[in-house]
Amino acid sequence: MSLRKLPKVDHLALDSSLADARERLGTKVVTALVREAIAGARLRALEGAEVAGREELLAELRQRVHQRLGQEVRAVINATGVLLHTNLGRAPLPIASLQRIQEVAGSYSTLEIDDELGVRTRRGLGAEARLAALCETEDALLVNNNAAAVLLCLSTLAAGRRVIVSRGELVEIGGGFRIPEVLARSGAELVEVGTTNRTRVQDYERAVDDRTAAMLRVHPSNFHITGFAERPALQELAQLAHARGLPLIKDLGGGLLVDLPEFIPARDREREPSVGACVAAGADLVCFSLDKLFGGPQGGAIVGARRWLTTLREDPLARALRVDKVTLAALEPLLGAYERGALDEIPVQAMLRASEETLRMRVQGWVDALAEQAAATKIVPTRAAIGGGTLAEALLPSVALAVDGERTEVVAQGLRQANVPIFARIEEGRVLLDARTVLPAQDAVLAAQLKQVLAAQ
Ligand SMILES: *Cc1c(COP(=O)(O)O)cnc(C)c1O
Repeated sequence: MSLRKLPKVDHLALDSSLADARERLGTKVVTALVREAIAGARLRALEGAEVAGREELLAELRQRVHQRLGQEVRAVINATGVLLHTNLGRAPLPIASLQRIQEVAGSYSTLEIDDELGVRTRRGLGAEARLAALCETEDALLVNNNAAAVLLCLSTLAAGRRVIVSRGELVEIGGGFRIPEVLARSGAELVEVGTTNRTRVQDYERAVDDRTAAMLRVHPSNFHITGFAERPALQELAQLAHARGLPLIKDLGGGLLVDLPEFIPARDREREPSVGACVAAGADLVCFSLDKLFGGPQGGAIVGARRWLTTLREDPLARALRVDKVTLAALEPLLGAYERGALDEIPVQAMLRASEETLRMRVQGWVDALAEQAAATKIVPTRAAIGGGTLAEALLPSVALAVDGERTEVVAQGLRQANVPIFARIEEGRVLLDARTVLPAQDAVLAAQLKQVLAAQ
């Protein structure tokens, strides 16, 4: 065994086949990758393996470079049929938001200044007032995400005191957001009432004592108890809270400002109340994500009565959780779209509302572009999901292109490795590309890439 046969780090790092990698990652990073690769080869050789040659190491390096580049966040095509896919970045932003980000974030801005008076103002003032008006409530506060919104409410209003919550709502939302853990972190003490499947108003009532600071209602998001289940209406809970002088905090999650489309069964629509409906039912503070059904950037909103929001705003934690200017830039055009009722300008809302007929026509467009590769495909009806912890089982009627054949995994992998990676779904041994979640602007790229992948089979 001759370890001396291993190439030198500097030699390998300067190989012409790594020129592109040096350009994109910088010489330092490439040299570090080379060092790792050579160290690995040395270890293997010491364990008795053949000493790796230059070509072998270069091949390994190309792999490492590819991996490193793949760790960057980049655009993909979501053909999974899951509208708010947390791993795929939830809501795509409206064009107007992108334009505003470009204008505002690439420049100095009026983030905390009144341009007429030249005096300092509060960040987010305008957006918060508009959001409050849209939710038909007194006030709104913007923070980093919904987890932060819930944390701020509990920490400010209930640290060192008690919060009453139904045992049936102590859930994990996904992505590790567990209500009991957030509660614990806020310093509030959790008082669980009822059982997993049944909680009555009397259960809350009995639990109220002089250490109680708030009542909390959590949207059960991605799970649903059927059968022998019961919980009080939000309104009943609000009445009890107010009779005892307590705030009712509602962790809503989705942030729906408008009604869900009619083609979703009424029973499912009832399970996803709008922010306005929660406010109207008497919730004092409603927390929701801005990047779920609301359709905006990552962010969290707390809307409700001014007396509570003023307290939240004055808490030092609010400063640590404040929204940044890019979020505000993205959000304001979205508020404008809601004010004008222009839901088509909000990608999540447009996808949610697209008719099956429109989807079918778009899939037909893909098929036409596939030409001779279309033989292996078939247009099929399917069901899409909202996702993001919202109405997990409320399945929207949708249309997909099914790719038949034995090699489903190979096709799915080929799609993921395309220039603009395509994420599809495998169902009953077929690859399904669901049109509901594909942005219309990506139709042509999807078809061209699919054609290539099928031709390579
Ligand atoms: C999604 C969700 C959260 C977490 O929201 P983020 O904006 O991801 O922090 C909290 N509560 C509920 C009910 C949710 O659905």
